[in-house]
Amino acid sequence: MIKTELKETIVQTGIKMLKDGLTVGTWGNFSLRDPETGLIYITPSGMDYETLKTTDVVVLDSEINIVDGECTPSVEKGMHIAIYNAREDVNAVVHTHPLYSTVLGVNKMELPAISEDFAQIVGYKMSCSEYALPGTDVLAQNVVKGLGKENGVLLPNHGTVLVGADMKSALTICQVAEKSAQIYIHALSIGTPNIIPDEDVKAMQDYVRTRYGQKGN
Ligand SMILES: [Zn+2]
Repeated sequence: MIKTELKETIVQTGIKMLKDGLTVGTWGNFSLRDPETGLIYITPSGMDYETLKTTDVVVLDSEINIVDGECTPSVEKGMHIAIYNAREDVNAVVHTHPLYSTVLGVNKMELPAISEDFAQIVGYKMSCSEYALPGTDVLAQNVVKGLGKENGVLLPNHGTVLVGADMKSALTICQVAEKSAQIYIHALSIGTPNIIPDEDVKAMQDYVRTRYGQKGN
């Protein structure tokens, strides 16, 4: 069953990413998985997010077969599907090229947990994956490996991949990761950043999962 409202979420996500400065032009790609059917809704290859229509969104199954849509899916479709197949908890994947996160990836540095919001929703760290050319199976494998159980990974000389339980969470994670990269680079420039210890990261994640926010959220 194909759902127009999920295609609309993809279109709206593109507009939001442009507005928030998370991507420029046609760079980056993102997708969501419908937990009900397991189908994946992904951006088409090389299309302008400002003019993207619901009919341009491509729907794939977990073996990268096109189920619906006339357009060619993103060249990174293999990477998106590999993440969904490896992570049951993930229903949205955002790949983009944000400035500060990419700076860390260029230096093959990782982004540790240096702020509480990062620790709560991104994880213990964002590793820097091994390099591979865009659109390749090796890139997909490297990203899955680099991501592990965290919600973000840096792609050397390229950008980032962030994941979430739904698109709203993935976009928040995207913003927090990029803000943390900016803070980390500034902190490194004037001193030695204090990294949040693993046990505190775990405590904060447990707190967010069990006690934070409205009941049922
Ligand atoms: Zn890219």
